[in-house]
Parts: sequence; C-alpha cells; structure tokens
Amino acid sequence: MKLIFATNNQNKVAEIKAALTNGLEIITLTEAGINIDIPEPHETLEENAREKATVIHNITAQNCFSEDTGLEVEALAGAPGVLSARYAGDDADNKKNIVLLLSNMHNIENRNAQFKTVISLFLDNKEYQFTGICKGKIINKEIGEMGFGYDAIFVPNGDVKTFAEMSMDEKNKYSHRKKALLQLINFLNQYNGKS
Ligand code: IMP
Repeated sequence: MKLIFATNNQNKVAEIKAALTNGLEIITLTEAGINIDIPEPHETLEENAREKATVIHNITAQNCFSEDTGLEVEALAGAPGVLSARYAGDDADNKKNIVLLLSNMHNIENRNAQFKTVISLFLDNKEYQFTGICKGKIINKEIGEMGFGYDAIFVPNGDVKTFAEMSMDEKNKYSHRKKALLQLINFLNQYNGKS
C-alpha cells in the first residue's frame, strides 16, 4: 500500500521510514510534487494532525497521513504541548525553544515530561487517529548531537541517554512516533484483511 506522508519535516520522514515494516510505501510531499507550508492553527495535536492530513487529502484525493507531536512537561501544566514548535515565538528555532524551556524549568524538581504523537490517517475518504506516548525526563542541559527538536534534553524512562545520543533505531525502541506508527500499521494490516 502507498501512503503520502503529509510533512515537510525530513527528520520525521527518516524516522518513520526507519521504523517501517514491509508492505507500506511512504511517499513524501516532495516525491508527490507538493510544495506548501502546512498550517497548524489549532489548540490540540488531534486537530492539527487532522488539518494537515485534510489539506493534503484535498489536494491529492489520495490516501495519506500526517502527524503532530508535542512535548508535554508535567510541572508546566503540559506546556509547550501543541505550541512546541513555536514555544519561543513564531520565528523560534530548536535552540531558542530549548533555551526557553530550560529557563522556565530552572529550579523545578519535577522533571517528568512526555512526547505525544497523534497520527491522522485518511483512508478511502475516512479519517482515523492513532496516538503514541513516550514518557521521560527533561535534563538541565543539552546532551547529544543526533535527532532534532527537543531530543537533546529528553531522556526516555528506562534509559540514561538522551534521544540525541541515540541512533534512529535506538530512539525507535521508545519513540512516541514509532508507537503511533505501529498502531497505524496494525490498523492497515487488519483493514487490508477485511477489504
Ligand atoms: P511538529 O509536530 O512538527 O509541530 O513539531 C512540534 C515540535 O516538537 C517541533 O519543535 C519539533 O522539533 C518537536 N518535536 C517533534 N517530534 C520530536 C521528537 O521526536 N523529538 C524531539 N522534538 C520533537
């Protein structure tokens, strides 16, 4: 089966391709010849994921999926959450977002946090959603060079390394995105069986 992955984030494409099992072919927006900025205007990951998939589905009329991810910090009442990409402002980058988050967590003892990914799948004109969560801790400085986003300050429960110290395969042992993707794959396997 072929699915368009509605993202311009090449890190996400690489992670999802690394996590894939046989039988599912991912087409990136570039490969599909689509060059647009996909909006994220809503207040929940679920709505943003739906919006991204809807935009691409409306353009292509093809089966497609999108994902929206947020980092939710317990001591900050779930922030940055849906605003993770723009935590330090509209022109923010990963570095600025991390600096602001670490400064907002200065002297906070509770370091619990989770990444949450919501995948929205448009299949035969119907939408389905899948959620993956990875719980862990925010450390107080950046460690590691790999990965992207907040990876350098996040240590998943059950490990001592940050995501940025892990290869893609190691990160995928814990990853929120991988967990949501596995649900998507299981769903597609059953769907194929029934259709
Ligand atoms: P979005 O899903 O593209 O809106 O990403 C939201 C924000 O979370 C961006 O700042 C990403 O860099 C960050 N982010 C998304 N997924 C991950 C991840 O797996 N690790 C670290 N940061 C991530």
